[in-house]
Amino acid sequence: MSNQAWKDGEGRDEVEAGESVFALVERAFPICRSITGNGVRETLRLLQEEIGDGAKLEVREIPTGTQVFDWRVPKEWNVRGAWIDGPGGQRVVDFADHNLHLLNYSMPFRGTLGLEELKSHLYSDPDRPTVIPYRTSYYQERWGFCLPHEQLESLPDGDYEVVVDTTLEDGHLTLGEVVLPGESEDSVLLSAHVCHPSLANDNLSALGVTAHLVRRLAAMPRRRYTYRIVLAPGTIGAIVWLAHNEDVALRIRHGLVLANLGDGGGDHGTFHYKRCQREDAVIDRAVVKVLEDAGEAFEVEDFSPFGYDERQYCSPGFDLPVGSLAQTPWGRYPEYHSSADNLDLIRPEFLGRSLCRLVEVIHLLENNRTFRNLHPKCEPQLGNRGLYSTLGGGDTGRERQLALLWVLNQSDGTNSLLDIAERSGKSFRIIQEAAAVLVEADLLEPID
Ligand code: ZN
Repeated sequence: MSNQAWKDGEGRDEVEAGESVFALVERAFPICRSITGNGVRETLRLLQEEIGDGAKLEVREIPTGTQVFDWRVPKEWNVRGAWIDGPGGQRVVDFADHNLHLLNYSMPFRGTLGLEELKSHLYSDPDRPTVIPYRTSYYQERWGFCLPHEQLESLPDGDYEVVVDTTLEDGHLTLGEVVLPGESEDSVLLSAHVCHPSLANDNLSALGVTAHLVRRLAAMPRRRYTYRIVLAPGTIGAIVWLAHNEDVALRIRHGLVLANLGDGGGDHGTFHYKRCQREDAVIDRAVVKVLEDAGEAFEVEDFSPFGYDERQYCSPGFDLPVGSLAQTPWGRYPEYHSSADNLDLIRPEFLGRSLCRLVEVIHLLENNRTFRNLHPKCEPQLGNRGLYSTLGGGDTGRERQLALLWVLNQSDGTNSLLDIAERSGKSFRIIQEAAAVLVEADLLEPID
């Protein structure tokens, strides 16, 4: 098939592909990201490097104060350093050791505080006493530090010297967008949040997978759809993108929010899919079909108006067909939003599996056409056309024969190949191959 080449072009299996994604995640892991600031810019630069010359990751800078629907772009935040020195002069907490130590978006501060007063600026998680929790304060100006609960409990009385050397000033919010034009302006949206600091699964896993997916999309010999890949800070970034792309958003036919794609899933299986708000979305069925065809164990959940940026894409003013794919979803793994979401939590083979399943989803969307049977009155004589003889023997041959019969029977000009694959219980690939054979034999013609 015409699109086979791009899938197999790099000739790498899941593990090899996953190792490249993992290497990218490793490089991006130490960077301190937030909803604004230089960490996002540096991350987008790394992603562009990985994407290569085939596609341009356009970096958009939106000034502080820009009104976007009911929101305003906040001040830009950057960090030079931050630490706390204890009563004996020893350094108790240092941003240089781990960027989760600083409450994300902390305003600048310098001063000396007693332990009790200091504690009102310290955040820990008593339920997970050994990890540094990830906390943010984007929309209320404050400063703070995060540390393991057991460390907080052991702090001695005395005076603490605090330095929060940050800037919180008028600047820009940065987001990245790749547009890969296709034959149609009808579009596929892929979206991943780029705002989390040193957290591997949430969401460097999806950023790494997406960068490699863009490489492959860019190398496709032809694209039926236009692809829009949005790498933006969570919530405010998606709102900015939608506010600036209302017309473009109307042309989105299929979309996925991608997050947590590297931990291998849990009891529910490797993947977790959350459906779109609207109930007629082809993407919901496409993802399920691909996971079934691959023999994956997975879980499907209905839409809910919380989670990641599907909240914005599926808001009633847009109501886009955008679902959400993860391995383990947000909040449901013990390492979530803490220093335990690190490079040990994710594995190359899981990243590679996410990439390969997404490649297959794109393949399905690109090839999900509708055909008309040109000999609809009784079955055409397949033997005369050499179609039985070319099919080979054994189970595969029989599977292919059945696929031919299903495609002929169902191609009345209303059923798509996905409809036929679902009804027949056969893989999308075998149904698609049968359709190609029948078109070649002048028994079928595409109508879309
Ligand atoms: Zn998160």
